[in-house]
Amino acid sequence: MTSAPAAGSTAPVLRLEEVTKSHPGGVTALDRVSLRVDEGELVAIVGPSGSGKSTLLHIMGTLDRPTSGTVRIAGHEVHTMSDRHLSALRARHLGFVFQHFHLTDGLDATENVATGLLYAGVPRRRRAPLAREALARVGLEHRRSHLPQQLSGGERQRVAIARALVNWPALVLADEPTGALDAANGEAVLRLLVELNAQGTTIALITHDRDIAARLPRRVELRDGRITADVSGVSAR
Ligand code: ADP
Ligand code: MG
Repeated sequence: MTSAPAAGSTAPVLRLEEVTKSHPGGVTALDRVSLRVDEGELVAIVGPSGSGKSTLLHIMGTLDRPTSGTVRIAGHEVHTMSDRHLSALRARHLGFVFQHFHLTDGLDATENVATGLLYAGVPRRRRAPLAREALARVGLEHRRSHLPQQLSGGERQRVAIARALVNWPALVLADEPTGALDAANGEAVLRLLVELNAQGTTIALITHDRDIAARLPRRVELRDGRITADVSGVSAR
């Protein structure tokens, strides 16, 4: 299932070509968007409310299908796949982080992280050790038996990040991951994502916050469903 890159080249983990998404009633949420994300990147997708960010994240994450255009993830052509194959592809190659964490209330941190392995074909006895290892990667080993309501917002988001990472996905998609956190916790989560990227995790982070985007190495700007800029390197801000 994996596509080995040629030596010395970077492999695209995501490739969108001419993706358009229209909604009933004539709204064009995405208008011929082409985007490539390579292994090892940390890219901000930034734009004001209504610019199409969530629509783009859903299409990048195969949670929604484009009206036209093509999507490739880790070398796999997505548009011909059945829903069942898509969920297998998501389980194997993608990790998701949402603004409001989406943890399950009755499960402790380890069990919440282990849910990231439910559809990945990992045997039950392997799930808890892998979950503990992912919690260690986000610095939360000492909270592994805590329930979500016993954790701070920042800790909950770190559990959600561990869940996204637990199966070593090709790409992590984060939709406003600091949006529900106070400044200090938001800062800690952003630093964690930067650190995880330095260790090799490929991340696309969606934000409306230009200050957050300015701190990331690549910024793709969306406006009215179109990419209006795609800038790499240190921001001028
Ligand atoms: P953002 O996340 O940047 O705020 P969205 O991707 O949520 O933007 O929305 C982009 C545009 O598509 C908006 O004009 C929104 O109203 C419209 N839109 C999003 N989802 C739907 C839907 N299911 N039906 C109709 N219009 C939608
Ligand atoms: Mg949105």
